[in-house]
Amino acid sequence: MLNYCRKLLGAPLKINHFRTFHNFPLEKKYDVIVVGGGHAGSEACAAAARMGAQTLLITHKKETVGEMSCNPSFGGIGKGHLMREVDALDGICGRMCDLSGIQYKVLNRRKGPAVWGYRAQIDRDLYKKHIQNELFKDTPNLDILVASVEDLIVENPTSNNNGQTTVECYGIILNDGTKVSSKSVVITTGTFLNGQINIGTNIYPAGRIGDKPSIGLAKTLSSLNLRMGRLKTGTPPRLKADTINYKACNIQKGDNPPLPFSFMNDKVWIKPEDQLLCYLTKTSLKIESIIKNNLHVNRHVSEEVTGPRYCPSIESKILRFGGREHQVWLEPEGLNSNVIYPNGLSCTLPEELQVQLIHTIPGLEKAEVLRPGYGVEYDFVDPRELQTTLELKRIHHLFLAGQINGTTGYEEAAAQGIIAGINAAALALGKTPITISRTEGYIGVLIDDLTTLGTTEPYRMFTSRAEFRLTLRPDNADQRLTGKGFQVGCVTKERYDKMVEIKEKVAESIALLKSITKTVSQWRKFLHVTPSKNPMQKSAFEMIDVNNEGITISMLAKVAPELLALTHDPLLENRLHIEALYEFAAAEQAVEVEEVRREESLIIPKDLDYNSNNLNLNSEEREKLLTIQPQTIAAASRIPGLTPSSVFRLLRFVKKYPQAQATL
Ligand code: FAD
Repeated sequence: MLNYCRKLLGAPLKINHFRTFHNFPLEKKYDVIVVGGGHAGSEACAAAARMGAQTLLITHKKETVGEMSCNPSFGGIGKGHLMREVDALDGICGRMCDLSGIQYKVLNRRKGPAVWGYRAQIDRDLYKKHIQNELFKDTPNLDILVASVEDLIVENPTSNNNGQTTVECYGIILNDGTKVSSKSVVITTGTFLNGQINIGTNIYPAGRIGDKPSIGLAKTLSSLNLRMGRLKTGTPPRLKADTINYKACNIQKGDNPPLPFSFMNDKVWIKPEDQLLCYLTKTSLKIESIIKNNLHVNRHVSEEVTGPRYCPSIESKILRFGGREHQVWLEPEGLNSNVIYPNGLSCTLPEELQVQLIHTIPGLEKAEVLRPGYGVEYDFVDPRELQTTLELKRIHHLFLAGQINGTTGYEEAAAQGIIAGINAAALALGKTPITISRTEGYIGVLIDDLTTLGTTEPYRMFTSRAEFRLTLRPDNADQRLTGKGFQVGCVTKERYDKMVEIKEKVAESIALLKSITKTVSQWRKFLHVTPSKNPMQKSAFEMIDVNNEGITISMLAKVAPELLALTHDPLLENRLHIEALYEFAAAEQAVEVEEVRREESLIIPKDLDYNSNNLNLNSEEREKLLTIQPQTIAAASRIPGLTPSSVFRLLRFVKKYPQAQATL
């Protein structure tokens, strides 16, 4: 398999329907045009084409389709959930990661499977090659054009009842003035709108390194009176792998067996023993003076534009949390690559100072810097301009997805891309659009947060943003979303049938497990776990992993042989185990969520002590509550970054406060 991949990387790509200006059928009217071939754009055009819409992807460069602009990894906590949901809708990123990962590791393993974060180090070139193969070669109904979109075809201004003007978008205008029409348009231009790169005090226009910014389209969007803002992000310097002293670092191994992202795969392409290693080192205090003494030559660290809170630059970490060591993961960029990505070291100092900074870190004393880190500032559209279908409220037929909506991350982009692609196609084909609620998926949480709260900093997904974490699990994303996707036409029959078969098996097996009952004392005696005299009847289902004692279906089958059949399929057994683990806790969680809804108007006393240990808030939550001083529980629950469980604790705390009897 490794040889196959090495061959694939070297092989020229066969392209079936790639268009250049010379053979582009200008007279063709498309159903959907997708602008931008990043992670949102790839999912959007693939989904629209899967639904049968005649789709055109227009992007700057053929070779950057599927480009991972920053980290060579996919997934993680919350992000892994998004990928499983994109896969459940037959999206492409999960399957491509199963074909191009070089180290797979599930994060958060010590916590329950509801919050496990599927993650993999990815071979950058291999991923891109697989995405390009899929889009250029294997996707019917999809044409691809290399060009820059500068403007939109906008028609039919009408005033709505609120005196607002709405318009309709029927295509795009290229940089040479060529017009291409379509029934709907999806824009996924990432960090390119008025993009500007910063390294030290060197500033120049660019969408990312080596790519021109998108100026015309930024002008068009702002001339359409959309609310826009500006955000920033950054990437670390890249290091030469064979100049690092790995002996000074800790080894990080992949999982054995590695878990695939896609529900269609039961294993990944790489053998467990062939997975590459990552390493962990830590910054020393020596970097502090380099950063603090050079703020005047580091334009990007100014607070004028907001950067990613959860993926901060090393400069912001030192300025906010000085006097500490900070972790740096050394991640290989690919099988054949001599490049290491030092995750955690995003920085924008002048290049020579970046080299000095790197050399202070244990293991990196002699590391060669292949490319300096840099920052990028860009325009984004306030996502409150969007409906939950990701169509703009005031520009009909125009959809936005990805970083243009204020998010950060490949997975957030892919999740929006697939929804925008499906809905753009649904609109063009006269089908009912798809929306996902907060109770159905993390994609629903993401889109609801963006469209109702907007964002003032690059938004990324976390499990803590979801109220219904115990039911929105990575293991059951297919059960939650594949049927919905099949109905709208973006999921193949093969995937749908597989999901239905599993669903039926799980339901039958749970019924069997629930039908076998014994007294607690009997179960415990037969299972040889701590004895009990409890005479209560409990089903086999209720006994699974009871009291965290590790009771498995295989153990129960020794007592009740009818269960033996369930242990022949390890995937089924695993699903049943997780269902049993969460059935009761998920019901309790739903009660908590309901209580917060019921008590939304409860007033929070002005003198409430947010530092109280009983509230158990983290520093970000405390800071936000102290700054915003919400008047009611409803207002607190709308603060981005305040988790649903913290709101619940706040509610219970407020209820105990003597002054807190009034409601608005
Ligand atoms: P992109 O992947 O950026 O794709 C945009 C596409 O649109 C490109 O193919 C471009 O060529 C095309 N395009 C743009 N304008 C036009 C036009 N007018 N006409 C035709 N095509 C056009 N995420 C993290 O989670 N953590 C990080 O630390 C992080 N750091 C980053 C650092 C940098 C420097 C950059 C650039 C990004 C970083 N990201 C990070 C963000 C991550 O790369 C993006 O969130 C993700 O790639 C966004 O996907 P997208 O599809 O929205 O846009």
